[in-house]
Formats: sequence, structure tokens, C-alpha cells
Amino acid sequence: MAPRKTAPGRSRDRVEGQWALGQREPLNHNETFKQEDDALNVRQRIEEVYAKEGFSSIPGDDLRGRMRWWGLYTQRRPGIAGGRTASLEPEELEDEYFMMRVRVDGGALTTEQLRVVAEISRDFGRGTADITDRQNIQYHWIGIESVPEIWRRLEAVGLETTEACGDCPRVVLGSPVAGVSKDEVLDATPAIEEIKRSYIGDPSLSNLPRKFKTTISWLADTAPELDDVSFVGVEHPEHGPGFDLLVGGGLSTNPHLAVRLGTFVPLEEIPEVWFGVASIFRDYGYRRLRNRARLKFLVKDWGAEKFRDVLENEYLKRPLLDGPAAVPPERPVDHVGVFEQQDGRRFVGFAPVAGRVSGDVLAAVADAAEAAGSARVRLTPYQKLVVLDVEPDRVDTLIETLEPLGLVAKSSTWRRSVMACTGLEYCKLAIVETKKLAHDLVADLETRLADLELDHPISVHINGCPNSCARIQVADIGLKGQIVTDDDGNQVEGFQVHLGGGVGADAGFGRKLRAHKVTAAELGDYVIRVARNYQDGHTEGERFAQ
Ligand code: SF4
Repeated sequence: MAPRKTAPGRSRDRVEGQWALGQREPLNHNETFKQEDDALNVRQRIEEVYAKEGFSSIPGDDLRGRMRWWGLYTQRRPGIAGGRTASLEPEELEDEYFMMRVRVDGGALTTEQLRVVAEISRDFGRGTADITDRQNIQYHWIGIESVPEIWRRLEAVGLETTEACGDCPRVVLGSPVAGVSKDEVLDATPAIEEIKRSYIGDPSLSNLPRKFKTTISWLADTAPELDDVSFVGVEHPEHGPGFDLLVGGGLSTNPHLAVRLGTFVPLEEIPEVWFGVASIFRDYGYRRLRNRARLKFLVKDWGAEKFRDVLENEYLKRPLLDGPAAVPPERPVDHVGVFEQQDGRRFVGFAPVAGRVSGDVLAAVADAAEAAGSARVRLTPYQKLVVLDVEPDRVDTLIETLEPLGLVAKSSTWRRSVMACTGLEYCKLAIVETKKLAHDLVADLETRLADLELDHPISVHINGCPNSCARIQVADIGLKGQIVTDDDGNQVEGFQVHLGGGVGADAGFGRKLRAHKVTAAELGDYVIRVARNYQDGHTEGERFAQ
């Protein structure tokens, strides 16, 4: 018999570690430590042992593995160049401090919570606090001895770091203007709250094949096509407002846009359907190779029809309604500026540069928001910050108070459209620096392109390595950090450029032109050339991604 044809290096009978098919044997080290002890259990050891006995008492599988389930990663040792990252042992690369991520589901914070977040930054994080593009707050310089007290303070105001990282359900993205936007028909917040209440920290979902990212939002203002599971608002001609369900999005080295299952999910059914999708991932997801473990690989292999069939028949035990597709926004929606709410008050969106704020800035935001009549702040997936419920006659004072702190509501295009990941400053995987570069780039572009009025904003996303924490494949100009050769033959920090990606109506991945590399030092010149060429050369209505 002739041998079956298979793709090079692949076998049709390959065991992928799918639990539902009886493949329970751990196939890599992460799967081994997850099976040996539920990662959530590390909390007790942190509180009872590691916080008392110090960094050196933490064994490797807890330090670099399970502690992620509580939002803790070791951070990069200062002074180690990006080019050396791959050649070093973990203990040479990492510092005795942690990055800590606080999950802020839906990006929603009260001013009371924000003040606690700010105090923790000042008391334990050397003043650091970044707004991530997952609506989280990220601290640095956290010592293990501080962690129990940080948890105590967070939990006293209803915040947590539970499953902020790790192979589990991460923070649930939601519209930063849920419940107030005049464009919203149905507020999805109750579904976010129910999922958080019922499933975050639930051991039945604490060992997934990889991370599991979620959006639940009426407005598609969270880049929902990039998440593992997304519910996006849609009007059904017979059943009224509800949600379109998409699965299998994700970026990094094998980017995929989420696909529709063709279903219509009423608001009250979202938690059940979400749990069904998460359970499929747990049971059928691939656990052999870490770089093939995200849900997108299963969705690609199965297709939408089979995925829906398994969801309905094996998990929900009932059919879902068919439904129409949600309408994507023309451009990414970052909510920067002043907008009228449903109740006549205003929400005001502010742009820090690439999400970099601080404990002092966040405390000042809490004070300024309250002085403007507000008790609610939201973080956005574009690394921005929105103050809700502002009395109309106090908008100007709020804007004037926060602008000197680097939070700008009347922002330039470039301040709004530049995003950056953590990069070399703290991230162990980074090859190049990102946040300071973003800061300098925005200042440079605001000066040298002050005369340029773009018909359409150009987004610039800066990543410190080939991962895509700052979503480089869906930027107009996506920059993937790597070491490049400059004109004098030196190995320097730089970027592989991806051009013409987008989300919403322009959803698609930028083109990677192999020869298209730029050094960090000449990045400003490069963006200016691209922006001027686009503005001079595009036709009426033609957007960058086209
Ligand atoms: Fe770190 Fe790379 Fe992610 Fe940036 S993209 S935060 S460098 S892993």
C-alpha cells in the first residue's frame, strides 16, 4: 500500500495532547507542572512560605510557571542587552523582582479602586503603573515579600490578580464606554461580571492548553477579531439586540482572525456559551507544542461548522439561534476626546503615550475625576484612559488638570495611534526597547509632522520581540523588534516592518517585506517618509490598509 501523503514534518496520527481523545500524558514541561499541581494552589505557598523566606526560596516551576496564574512574572535584570536574551539561562536573565498584572475586567475601575491601585504602585512598585492593551494595570519592581499585602489591598476594593496571566481565562475585555455610549444598544457588563464571578479562579478552567482571551462588548471597540472568543453586539431582525459569536482569533507568529460561528447569543446566555467554548478549548485544545496550543489552531483545523456542532451537541446540548454578523467599525475606536453620554453627561478619553502612567498620575486622575463629579474610570485596549460621568461644565477643568500630567484629551494623531509593549526595560523575552522609543517618537512626529493633516490616522505599534503583545500585525505600521545591521555594519536595535494591517472594516494582517527593516535610531525619519508618501499619494477615501 502506498504511504499516505502528509505535510512535511507532520503526521496525521500525531498525538496533540487532546484530553477529550484520551491523550492525557503530559507532552511538554508546562503540561507536566500543570498536572502535578493546580497552578492556583501556588497562592498558599506564596503567602505562607515565599513571602516570608524570600525570592531564593521559590522553586523554578512555581517561579516561572505557576506564579503567572496570580499575575506574577519575573522581570528582566536591568542592563542585559536584547541581543543576549537567547543565550542566557533564566536565572541570569531575570531579576529578583516581579511584574504584576492586575486584571481589570471591562477596564472598569471606580475612583476608590484607582486610588488603591495608585497607592500600591507608590508603596511597592517604585511608582510604576502601565495601562496594557488588555485593559490591565501592570506594575514592576514588586518584591515577593509585598505580594500578600498587595492582594489584601486589592481584594478589599474588589480587584484581583487571579488568572491575570497563565494558561487560563485572562481578563475579559469590554467596551470602555459600556453603559454610557450613545452608540450602544445593550450593555454587556452583566455577562462580564457573571463570568468573573463564576469562572475566574475556578479549578475547572485553571488548566487550559494556553491563555484564553475574551471580549464581550456591544461596540467592537476592543479589537474582538483577535481574541479566542468574542461576543459582539448585533441586532437580530426577529429577536432584537444580542451578540454575534466569534472564535479562534490570535496574533503572534501564526496570526488568525476570529471566525463567526453564525450564531446569535442573547445577553443572558453569554456566560453559558462562553463556558462551553472554554471547555472545548480545555478538552480538545492541543497540548503537545506550546506554539500550537492556542484555540486558533483547533478552529483552523475544525472549521466553524464543526466547532459550532461540537459546542451545541457536546457542551450546550441544544442548538443556538442563527444570527447576522456584527458591523465592524471603520477605524479603531480609542475614545480619546470629549463625548456626550446617554444621560447627557460627558465621557472624556485621555491619551498617555503608549499606556505609560504612574502611581502619582493615577492618584491625580482619581482626584480630578471626583472633582469633575465622576466616580468611574475605564482603561481601554488602546492603552488609553477614560473618565466617565463628567458634568459638562467641569470638562474643561478636568482636561486642564490632567494635561500637564501627560494625559491629553485634545491629542495629536500620533499620541493616539502609537502603542508599545513592555519591551527591554522589563520583559525577559524582549530584544529591543519600546516605551521610551514610543515617547521620543511621538514627540518627534508631533514636531516634524505638525503641518501634516492626515485624512486617516496611521497607527504605529512597537513590539520588543516577535511576539505581538502590541498587536503589530494589525497596525498600519507594525514594528517587530529585532537586531538589525545599520549602514555602518553595526548590529543595533531595530525592527522588521509590517505594513497595512488593521482591525474593524480593515481587518487583515500587514505585509511583511523581508528587506523592510529600520533601525530604532532612524524610526522617526522612516515614519515621516511613509506618512508623507501616503498623504501625497492616496486617492480620495483610500485608507492606509488599502
Ligand atoms: Fe515582551 Fe515581546 Fe510581548 Fe513585548 S512583544 S512584551 S518584548 S514578549
